[in-house]
Amino acid sequence: MGSIKENLERVRERIARAAARAGRGPEEVLLVAVSKTVPPERIREAIAAGARTLGENRVQEAKEKIQALGRSGVSWHLVGHLQSNKVKDAIALFDLIHSLDRLSLAEELDRRGRASGKRVEVLVQVNAADEPSKGGFRADELRQALEALAGRAGLWVRGLMAIPPEPKTPEDSRPCFKAMRTLLEQARGWGITGLDLDALSMGMSGDFEVAIEEGATIVRVGTAIFGPRPA
Ligand SMILES: *Cc1c(COP(=O)(O)O)cnc(C)c1O
Repeated sequence: MGSIKENLERVRERIARAAARAGRGPEEVLLVAVSKTVPPERIREAIAAGARTLGENRVQEAKEKIQALGRSGVSWHLVGHLQSNKVKDAIALFDLIHSLDRLSLAEELDRRGRASGKRVEVLVQVNAADEPSKGGFRADELRQALEALAGRAGLWVRGLMAIPPEPKTPEDSRPCFKAMRTLLEQARGWGITGLDLDALSMGMSGDFEVAIEEGATIVRVGTAIFGPRPA
């Protein structure tokens, strides 16, 4: 792998080419540089090279990094599972929570959001391949879930998120990404008010180009930027 700067440039080029293949502009895809396990010095390199959105999967780890790096000019997203007892910190730290995966968490986010006078921005996680090991709403539960989540004073649904089964080749993820795009379009047709369904967060280092071809508006890329993580 090259330097973080070179890796980031390469990822950006790949995003632009994938977007072009889908008839979209590169600015239509937000790159979240997933910096979990990466120490602050290396995250600083990514920021210096132009990374503007960072993704973390643990609240405590993110808190320490945000203290070290500050938040000027960068936005932090939570991409991992959120425990209800970490909601208060998460709301203060993150601009978008990708992993709203259960109604009890929504209740807590809404309650804390109202208490701090803001609508907490979230994506609703869909367990697209219905894997027991993964969180999220099943596709057949989504309509009811969105109806329950819409129009809350402390919560703002911005779209959907999915993590497909780990692909062996990028193409393995295409059916799942396609299904997510279809589901998003169906959900828009349900006419539920009080939420937005603009964002579709899908695609990681192994499959982000396919995700973009299938309509991702946010990709979450770690390894291709920062190199392999410790096992
Ligand atoms: C770790 C992680 C990523 C990034 O994975 P890479 O394969 O390193 O790009 C993306 N999304 C989520 C939810 C993650 O936990």
